[in-house]
Amino acid sequence: MNLMSNKLVIATRNAGKIVEFRRILDSISAGAIELIGIDQFPELADVEETGATFEENALLKARYTAKMTGLPALSDDSGLCIDFLGGAPGIFSARWAGTHGDDKANTYKVLDELEDVPDEDRGAYFICVAALVLPGGREEIAEGRFAGRILRTPIGEQGFGYDPIFAPIGMSISSAQMSADEKDAVSHRGKALRAIAPHVIEILEGLR
Ligand code: IMP
Repeated sequence: MNLMSNKLVIATRNAGKIVEFRRILDSISAGAIELIGIDQFPELADVEETGATFEENALLKARYTAKMTGLPALSDDSGLCIDFLGGAPGIFSARWAGTHGDDKANTYKVLDELEDVPDEDRGAYFICVAALVLPGGREEIAEGRFAGRILRTPIGEQGFGYDPIFAPIGMSISSAQMSADEKDAVSHRGKALRAIAPHVIEILEGLR
């Protein structure tokens, strides 16, 4: 791969997501993309997620980051949608129990809400919308989903967020018990990033 410019800013402060972004994009580009964390730009504010959809929130984060850094920016907005809760926590997944990013509290709130719900009604899916925004205005969007069900107690040490209470469809383990490669192969973030990667590579190669 012969890239004219290879810098891409990952527009998130979520440590669990950054690990997955790096892992997935490195495996696609064989390390040819230089991924820059948002922590390299201390002047950047936290973007308020005021959108009504995953797509709007992903675009808010990537647009702001591209504008402020002058570099292509890639963000995602993701969450857990539970059938029994009518799709909640959805876009509120990161702050479901009140404090943004309190994974443990969020997890136990969901378990409480589903306490009396039988196994057959515990269906859920993770969704990830990835947004790529260029300083010049070009925008690309890709979506990935990961279907499963909500367990009754947390199990597993890998991953982040709701992984310990999420069992992928057809599996008896949680996504916090999957290896990194196993999760990336089937996860919402893996699917969304693999779908947007050709745009990233094309843009960085300067073909358009
Ligand atoms: P946001 O996209 O930064 O608004 O946050 C998404 C939230 O959804 C995270 O804080 C997690 O609670 C949850 N989430 C998204 N993707 C995953 C995942 O792969 N595993 C577990 N939880 C996730």
